[in-house]
Amino acid sequence: SKELGKNQVQYYTHDFHANMQQRMQLENELKLAIKRDELRLFYQPQVDATTGALAGVEAFICWQNERRGLLAPDDFIPLAEESLLIIDIGRWVINEACQQFSTWNKLYDLKNMTFTIAVNISAKQFKDHGLFDYLRACIKSNEIDAQLIELEFTESSLESSLDAIDMLNKLSDIGVKLALDDFGVGYSSLSQLKKFPFDVLKIDKSFVQDPRDNGNGLLAAICAFAHSLGYETVAEGIETEEQKLLCQTLNVNRLRGYLFDKPMTAKELQKSWLTHLLK
Ligand code: C2E
Ligand code: CA
Ligand code: CA
Ligand code: CA
Repeated sequence: SKELGKNQVQYYTHDFHANMQQRMQLENELKLAIKRDELRLFYQPQVDATTGALAGVEAFICWQNERRGLLAPDDFIPLAEESLLIIDIGRWVINEACQQFSTWNKLYDLKNMTFTIAVNISAKQFKDHGLFDYLRACIKSNEIDAQLIELEFTESSLESSLDAIDMLNKLSDIGVKLALDDFGVGYSSLSQLKKFPFDVLKIDKSFVQDPRDNGNGLLAAICAFAHSLGYETVAEGIETEEQKLLCQTLNVNRLRGYLFDKPMTAKELQKSWLTHLLK
């Protein structure tokens, strides 16, 4: 009735204000996160699908906040994107990943293997017109081989502007590897794909894990499509031996998922995956 409707409105506005307040507080704290040194990168191994050997890592950001604990990217990256804090955070991620990579290059013998470090880039970072120069400076000062840096963009990047194509071409020209993340989720842009200089397609975990994909026809088609167009492939979300074997059969190049390991700190990665490569 009317009475109930009124109450609902009151609840709604109350919740709305409470949410707004919480959001603004979170945003204010996130603004301070870099200064307070509260951001962390976690690294998850990627393995060569054929040999099972370590092929590199993907870096994931987390936020270690005193009051809230450890926040996962999904808890604050969307807010960072809306508020454009993602520009500073995105640069922090690039710098941190490059410094870590340089440290590993000094400690471990990575020369005889292809060890790539993959970094997630938000489509909103195309608004950062200094990003290209920033990345190039990080690569240079840390003496990194540009080919070993892989930048991951989601399909929403494909819908965006000429800025996107322009920046991707510049990145590709200096040898940085470009990967399209969550491939297959936004199939609308399939015809757009060749306009962009991607090297790698990352097959979304929903395809690897889809129980309704009987006989795995969809996954097989995606892999065949990717390879016939000359892309390298990475499958994510590999949790079972069966999924691993399936991806091997489909000639996926690299694999990532809990079957191999979870995202972990740099120190943990060193202990579990890198010690045998000590110089
Ligand atoms: P994504 O790049 O598609 O990352 C895959 C997500 O799957 C990660 O979650 C990862 O921890 C998780 N994952 C890894 N292996 C498995 C598995 O075997 N099974 C399952 N079910 N999940 C697995 P996470 O760390 O919560 O990251 C979520 C998303 O946040 C990422 O999706 C990425 O889009 C974004 N993100 C993470 N780090 C950054 C960053 O530094 N910058 C930006 N812009 N976005 C980031
Ligand atoms: Ca990714
Ligand atoms: Ca993904
Ligand atoms: Ca994702």
